[in-house]
Amino acid sequence: MKTNTLGNTGLQVTEVGFGVLTVGKTQLNLTVEEGAAVLRYGLERGINFLDTAEYYETYPFIRKALKGTSFEPVIASKSLGLTYRSMETAIEDARIALDRDIIDIFLLHEVRDDPDFENRAGAWECLQDAKAKGLVTAVGLSTHHVDVAAKAAEVNEIDVLFPLINLQSLGIRKGSGFGTKEEMELEIKRAAQRGKGVFAMKVFGGGNLVGRYQEAIRYVRGLEGISSMMVGFGRQHEIDRIIEAVEDSLDPTYIPDLTDKKISVDQGDCIGCGNCMVRCPNRAIFRNDLGLAEVDHNICLTCGYCAPVCPVRAIIMFG
Ligand code: SF4
Ligand code: SF4
Repeated sequence: MKTNTLGNTGLQVTEVGFGVLTVGKTQLNLTVEEGAAVLRYGLERGINFLDTAEYYETYPFIRKALKGTSFEPVIASKSLGLTYRSMETAIEDARIALDRDIIDIFLLHEVRDDPDFENRAGAWECLQDAKAKGLVTAVGLSTHHVDVAAKAAEVNEIDVLFPLINLQSLGIRKGSGFGTKEEMELEIKRAAQRGKGVFAMKVFGGGNLVGRYQEAIRYVRGLEGISSMMVGFGRQHEIDRIIEAVEDSLDPTYIPDLTDKKISVDQGDCIGCGNCMVRCPNRAIFRNDLGLAEVDHNICLTCGYCAPVCPVRAIIMFG
């Protein structure tokens, strides 16, 4: 698979990365053996870029997939931590759990707006110190927000930006409202021009664009400034299809089989607004002990009506 240089980091990443969230307990809930097998297959097929996070609890899958192999993928992780201490712990935990002295990329996870970036000053200072000490190679942030992406382009110390972008603007935020793909495209381009490495998330809008599979991939591949796109995989054939898509050998009529699809709420993204609970025609979403939305799979019809009303694109379709 084609590789690109991730901005000024010098890291070489394949144009498709493996979003490891999918195999973990909040989505497909595979065993470590099963998840590691899918990951290993992705590595064998040439994917060299993995995205994980403290919150995903998927480090054991990566460690198992790499054990006894000569693969040395670029690993990106991230933490929702606000303070210096919490970020320090997150980096140390990742180094131990992944059995790596150096984590290639470590990010502030899901920065929501400018005050949020400011509120995480302690965590951000820790990331920069970790880079200076050689514990991580590159630092930056992930975000759904146009304004945060704009800010990231201006901050010299940010090496990497991991923004949400897809062809239908699903989940793109701006201020307290919604942003557009055109606005995010502009910030991605600006960030890349300033030497930031940029890789894309939610290319399929949390699964809601898989009906436009090839179009969705083409759109992100064509964006100026994007070095890679993170995609979640749960099965080997999904890896085969995306490789065919980027190598332009995929059957043009291909649409993924969605008969086993499931809806889930990413607890790291949900802000508990309740929109989905009001929208669900089957009352399949309830508020859990944390005040966040959770889906009752026994009564969910997988109609997908709830996903578009979520302001933060926390509702994910997978399967
Ligand atoms: S997919 Fe449909 S039934 Fe399931 S939680 Fe969403 S709106 Fe409700
Ligand atoms: S609409 Fe989204 S943010 Fe609001 S409660 Fe539902 S999942 Fe959470």
